[in-house]
Amino acid sequence: MKEPGSHLHDRLRALAQNLWWTWHPEVISIVTDLDPHLWRQVEHNPIAFFNQMTPEQIEDRASELVLHSRINYAFRRLNEYLDQPKTWGKIHCGNINNRPVVYFSAEFGLHESLPIYSGGLGILAGDHLKSASDLGIPLIGIGLLYQQGYFSQHLNRDGWQEENYINLDTNNLPLQEVKDSAGAPLIVNIDTRSNPIQAKVWQVQVGRVRLMLLDSNIEGNSAQDRELTSRLYGGDSSVRIRQEILLGIGGARILQALNIFPGVLHLNEGHSSFAILEEIRRIMEYDAIPFHRAHRRVSLYTVFTTHTPVAAGHDRFPADLVEEHLGIFREKLGLSHDDFMALGRVNPADNSETFCMTVLALKTSRRANGVSAIHGDVSRLMWHGLWPNRRELEVPIGHITNGVHVLSWLAPQMNQLFQTRLGQDWPTRMVHPDVWEHIEEIDDGELWETHQSLKMRLIRFVRRRLSLQSQRLGHDKTLDKIEHILDPDVLTIGCARRFATYKRGNLILSQPERLAALVKNTKRPIQIIFAGKAHPLDDEGKALLQQIAKISYDSAYRTRIIFIENYDYNLARHLVQGVDVWLNTPRRPLEACGTSGQKVVLNGGLNLSVLDGWWSEAFDGSNGFAIGHGGMHNDPDIQNQRDQQYLYETLENEVIPLYYNRDASGIPCGWVKRIKHAMQTLGWRFNADRMVKDYAERFYLPAASATSTET
Ligand SMILES: *Cc1c(COP(=O)(O)O)cnc(C)c1O
Repeated sequence: MKEPGSHLHDRLRALAQNLWWTWHPEVISIVTDLDPHLWRQVEHNPIAFFNQMTPEQIEDRASELVLHSRINYAFRRLNEYLDQPKTWGKIHCGNINNRPVVYFSAEFGLHESLPIYSGGLGILAGDHLKSASDLGIPLIGIGLLYQQGYFSQHLNRDGWQEENYINLDTNNLPLQEVKDSAGAPLIVNIDTRSNPIQAKVWQVQVGRVRLMLLDSNIEGNSAQDRELTSRLYGGDSSVRIRQEILLGIGGARILQALNIFPGVLHLNEGHSSFAILEEIRRIMEYDAIPFHRAHRRVSLYTVFTTHTPVAAGHDRFPADLVEEHLGIFREKLGLSHDDFMALGRVNPADNSETFCMTVLALKTSRRANGVSAIHGDVSRLMWHGLWPNRRELEVPIGHITNGVHVLSWLAPQMNQLFQTRLGQDWPTRMVHPDVWEHIEEIDDGELWETHQSLKMRLIRFVRRRLSLQSQRLGHDKTLDKIEHILDPDVLTIGCARRFATYKRGNLILSQPERLAALVKNTKRPIQIIFAGKAHPLDDEGKALLQQIAKISYDSAYRTRIIFIENYDYNLARHLVQGVDVWLNTPRRPLEACGTSGQKVVLNGGLNLSVLDGWWSEAFDGSNGFAIGHGGMHNDPDIQNQRDQQYLYETLENEVIPLYYNRDASGIPCGWVKRIKHAMQTLGWRFNADRMVKDYAERFYLPAASATSTET
């Protein structure tokens, strides 16, 4: 990328090719200035944007708008970033510098224009790459390129979710073909008892970090295998096992083809666990040692992060499927079918047990973790059976709490305000609590005004989306009525998440009269914006979503309870930057961490959440609001009833009064105080720089020293 010529259009294309732009709004503002209408039309995809203009058009337009210095400045900033000699990683991660951390994940959420994620797991992986890049940690990501992404969501007139699948156009994505040593497109190949699985490899540049994506849609594959990487979490178990073989084994083979020796293998969730076995196979061959020795060695530098206490989140495959798709590979490891199956069984002697990807990962990684303190506890209990001779506390699963990539989620206006008091370079020091002390110095009025203008931006966005939705459904929301949708002076609650039943997205609807009293209150009303997708096969989740959709269609609520379709990165960004309150009501202890509430804090919103996941370690009594006291009941109905009660009480007695308590100039001083306290107590902890540093110091460095001494 060093020499893309001096033409402005070359520089713009070079900027578009590195996803560094996704957390640098100064680049985005150049493109939006070039043509705001086109930018929206191409759904925030700069490559598609530039593909629609000739170089001459770009040059002309840039001259007309006098964009030269902004383009050149952004281009210089990117190059300085890429060349920076003294990063945290260079200083602190010396011994992993020539052997990178290889980070495997089934999904990566980096931006709405690269839709290869479904939710929290993917966004977390994307944030991990971005912070690893900012910190200068040598890391390579490995994933799959889903041609149809997850899905885009529409609701029909009954409020039932319908899914649309659209093929991505690789010409409009920031992808580069990875070549083999002979300069031909790199193809990885995995033999199975039926057809071999083949895939080509694309590379995406995320700042300083490379992300490699496998793509099975190539000639030479069977028709079925060409669709292996069509959809994220689609297909039956045989599609699923082949996807995971491709991700794990195929991913590890990319490294071999490029002569990259991993210093650390980091598996983000169990989907990629087969990577461990391929690494073992490589070491067996390379060092001519038997399986058990290679197994021990590889486990020393393998790190595994588990992400959910929900059983369905842990893939399991029956023995015949394993044999069919992995039989040939198993023979290369010199294992019998039973020995192989034992790797994925809690009880190796139990022939009825299926092969569990999480079990494989836990048995072959020296370091494993959950994603919040409470999730660490739950995981130790959940997997105690793997270490029957240890006490529960001694089960070797720790925790590193998730965080968010701050510059990807912080509104530029809020960042500007931060820079005036925290210093221009505050993002490089964000893990230090003292940096956030200076939030105190921000004027209450200024903070409130910034928040209000972000809320107005959200409301305009919601109105636009809603008018499109209503037109499609034929609802009689004429454009002048759209202006009555949502009121910036009303307490605005955001509630967006996957519609999995344990998340209880409908808890706030559970007592309709009480809800009506809150929404229709003339002096101190509330309004709620919902969003979220249910998995295409999850009818229970869809029914839950339908309940919300139906209320939002009801004329009594239509201006105050809103459902916005197709929750994605873009909608999430608007929501977390504009709401007053973020509502989260999972059934404790099933939320592993949750990260959307962390994004809200940065932007001046407050959390109202069950004490689960990150919130159970974050809440201090005055940096947001808690629903209940962290209790649990074995009977979910009883727990639901209690949590409903707590939710309404907290809203009625704490949240609403504090929000509407204004001083003479209309500022809710007590509320703003709470916002500031939230930023100060949470900002330095729940960000991805802190998270990735924790991984580096506690896991990567010790794991990498195992590789450097052993080989
Ligand atoms: C942050 C984010 C998530 C994760 O949300 P939680 O419900 O808090 O786990 C999911 N989807 C999108 C689009 C996000 O931006």
